[in-house]
Amino acid sequence: MSRPPIIAPPTRLSGVTARRRARPDHRDVVLVVGGGFGGAYAARQLQHRRNRIRQVVLVNANNFLLFSPLLAEVASGTVEPRHAVVPLRDMLRRTTVLVGTVTKLDLDARTAHVATSGGEHRLVRFDAVLLAPGAEPVVVNVPGLERHAVGFKTITDAIWLRNHLLSQFEAAATCDDPQRRRELLTFTFVGGGYTGVEALGELQSLAHDALRRYPTIHPNDTRWVLVETQDRLLPGLDERLARYTHTVLTRRGVEIHLGTRVISCTNGVVRLSAHGCAPFRSGTIVWAAGQRPSSFAADNGLPVDRHGRIVVDEHLAVRGLRRTYAVGDATAVPTADGQLAPGTAQQALRQGRLAARNIVAELDQRKRSPYTYRDRGLAVTLGRHDGTAQIKCVPIRGLLAWWLGRSYHLALLPGIARKARVLADWTTGLLFSRDIAQLGEHHPVEPPRLAAGRADQQAAAS
Ligand SMILES: Cc1cc2nc3c(=O)[nH]c(=O)nc-3n(C[C@H](O)[C@H](O)[C@H](O)COP(=O)(O)OP(=O)(O)OC[C@H]3O[C@@H](n4cnc5c(N)ncnc54)[C@H](O)[C@@H]3O)c2cc1C
Repeated sequence: MSRPPIIAPPTRLSGVTARRRARPDHRDVVLVVGGGFGGAYAARQLQHRRNRIRQVVLVNANNFLLFSPLLAEVASGTVEPRHAVVPLRDMLRRTTVLVGTVTKLDLDARTAHVATSGGEHRLVRFDAVLLAPGAEPVVVNVPGLERHAVGFKTITDAIWLRNHLLSQFEAAATCDDPQRRRELLTFTFVGGGYTGVEALGELQSLAHDALRRYPTIHPNDTRWVLVETQDRLLPGLDERLARYTHTVLTRRGVEIHLGTRVISCTNGVVRLSAHGCAPFRSGTIVWAAGQRPSSFAADNGLPVDRHGRIVVDEHLAVRGLRRTYAVGDATAVPTADGQLAPGTAQQALRQGRLAARNIVAELDQRKRSPYTYRDRGLAVTLGRHDGTAQIKCVPIRGLLAWWLGRSYHLALLPGIARKARVLADWTTGLLFSRDIAQLGEHHPVEPPRLAAGRADQQAAAS
């Protein structure tokens, strides 16, 4: 009995798949939506089950997996951008990688519509599906935010920020107007979670090193502002680590506003809710105040909770659906104690691997395994060989935490070649002074649009 093609234009068969129709094959096709930590690691596991799985098709917006724990180091230039991404076609040699976006998922017909990066339209037929579309930045309804702020989520954001910081220094070096100069040298970060803290810590360390080459700019001419709505930094991590981070950043001259919201940043003038903080012009505003689950699930009628996260059972199967699994930041994964697993790379990766095993088990009609939450900890770099880390419940600070963080991320990086490249970047960074070439001509000059996520009316999320 012949089967329809797996990937085809909506109206006709492709040559390769048409030839395959001649051969009956009773193995299944698994579609993976999203090639981040959850999707890519699931596909890596699935592609080796050739006895059960005929083809794994992974659709991702880019042709790489972004290794986000290294994003702050990309922004500060200690890691080359290309080394912080993993080409999916290298990592997944037995998977069919489609670069594009799944625009519609039809679970009844078991088909997905894909808009490819080349502007084509493809229909993918599948037997089982794993959803890992991740999260998108929460953009609250703050006047001026979309126009003046940049997010910190993509490789483009990190590349742009590094170039932007250096271009601000170039402009300030020859600027005679004190007000304009102050604006050029003011850097505001919104969000005191690990994303905002790492971005600030690393970019400030880039500035610290770069300033040696700008004799007309004194370090005190720069202004660094960190705004957080909660009454502490690094929510979710040990209180002692938050205090340590606060002390280190304050010692470096960072103005930290806790329990404070950004009210507006119209025309680049930042207004804070804190009493006594006068509005100020800031040439750089980085929005790192949270993410929300991708809207993919809600848009496709999948069961979601009130935050838009896909509802799954303990096997990571989407509630009430057969052969449909979901993992990662887009998913509300229950833990044994009735909580939800945090959205981290580590959890997405573990969930991806388990979902892959459970998909095969369901196809084989075998018993599936439940997800057991285990946390190895989280390391936060503060730049300049300093950091904090929580390994299990043990808080670690300073040089040791920084080194442990680097070692852990190196171990997590897939592929020996990628590890070698990052290690070479780090070694070069330890031996030589920082490269402060501004690559504006080769990278986007316009700021990457923050509106990648949709504007959120709930200002409370800021
Ligand atoms: C700056 C930063 C630093 C971080 N540092 C750490 C850290 O140190 N440690 C840690 O554990 N975690 C860290 N995280 C969190 C971690 O990156 C996420 O938890 C993890 O990436 C989640 O994996 P995921 O597979 O769910 O989503 P993602 O990795 O975000 O991947 C989702 C993918 O799906 C694609 N996609 C979405 N919709 C579609 C569609 N319709 N069709 C096709 N493709 C689609 C997206 O383009 C994306 O490539 C960090 C995050 C950021 C932003």
